Amino acid sequence: MKKYTITNVHARLVFNCLYTPAIETVVEVDNTYTGSAINPQGQSTGLSEAREVLDGGRRFGGLGCDQAIVNVNTEIRNALLGMDVTDQAEIDRRLIALDGTPDKSRLGANAIVSVSAAVARAAANAVGLPLYRFLNNNAHILPVPMLSTMDGGHYGLGAASEIQEFNLFPIGAGSVREAVEICREVHFTLGNILEKEYGPMARLASNAGGYSVPCRSCARTFDYIVSAIDACGYSEKIKLGMDCASSHWYDKEAGLYQFEGEQRTTQEMMKYWKKLVRDYPIISMEDPFDEDDIEGFRMATAELEGVQIVGDDFFTTNPGRLRERIPMNAGNALLWKYNQIGTITEAFYAAEIAKSNGYGIQASERSGESEDSILSDFTVALNCGQVKTGTLIRTERVSKYNRFLQIEEELGKEAVYAGSFFRKPFMK
Ligand code: PGA
Ligand code: ZN
Repeated sequence: MKKYTITNVHARLVFNCLYTPAIETVVEVDNTYTGSAINPQGQSTGLSEAREVLDGGRRFGGLGCDQAIVNVNTEIRNALLGMDVTDQAEIDRRLIALDGTPDKSRLGANAIVSVSAAVARAAANAVGLPLYRFLNNNAHILPVPMLSTMDGGHYGLGAASEIQEFNLFPIGAGSVREAVEICREVHFTLGNILEKEYGPMARLASNAGGYSVPCRSCARTFDYIVSAIDACGYSEKIKLGMDCASSHWYDKEAGLYQFEGEQRTTQEMMKYWKKLVRDYPIISMEDPFDEDDIEGFRMATAELEGVQIVGDDFFTTNPGRLRERIPMNAGNALLWKYNQIGTITEAFYAAEIAKSNGYGIQASERSGESEDSILSDFTVALNCGQVKTGTLIRTERVSKYNRFLQIEEELGKEAVYAGSFFRKPFMK
């Protein structure tokens, strides 16, 4: 028998934080070690993401994943038995070939990603290393966590802004621990400010954990957040980020953005963003234009000086899309969501392309998360310096922060908080 041989692969139904079925896959090695992972799931997905296999029909509103689970427990299991679990690249190649489609739609990206991630965990467990260390012998950068604090768009409740996430970006903290502490203070101070204006219901959490109040204006929403930061005295330590998720308020037919009650062209939106970044300390903007508005992305990258322009729906962690769009000077950072492409090897390859072209990399959760904190290990393994993993009030998000705190302690003096080097932490 080979060393580190896969002796079983088993998937079961579990749930994510959205009351939605998910897949937990357990990979067993040498009948001794195991590693498991649960697939994350997006709600505000890009059109070019790898495709999940969902059951459809009435059960679970069509979101069941029984068929994807069967795919793991039959075809995928049979293909992986006997393989060397430490050979992630070969295993992922086999998964891709077995699926046989360009978007993983036959076996399902949900099935494949749960297997691919569980393989990584099982390999690390079999070898006896923490996952981040198994994946990268030089992993030592702790990311700046970009905490979401107010939500709108897909995540918002009722009459909130079109902007999906308003984020605190604590680049002036000295560690993840300090970042969490100061953002907590700001988040609760913000709660007091919102409660005064909108009543106690303003304290309720939206789907992604942020506050969501009936305030249509993006600028006014930032005013609340800046007041909270100022009241806590952290304006030097905490800057701002945002996920515009603009594909979701772009009318593709008309070619116009439906923003704050008006229809706007790419140029008009650009004018708006320019003023916004003059008025507020915004240093990171995700998807300011539609996923196929290359001209918009080019303009934002050229004209919003000092602002990181992150492509989420725009790149979908897809090596092909990155190779095509990077030479156009569209965007300067990749939002890294490993389930958008479906295997760990391809996701790390996408990060490699971004990094070698001088792009920043922000690792990211999905809205449909679970207690699985594997994203934190991946983030540290990438040495990428920044992560977006929601508000720290729900366990599917808390689990990621807690894992960073464990790693920070485990690395001790070796740990380097990316801080203001978040866009290019690789040299730190
Ligand atoms: P998701 O989106 O709901 O698809 O995970 C998160 C994001 O847009 O960054
Ligand atoms: Zn996004």
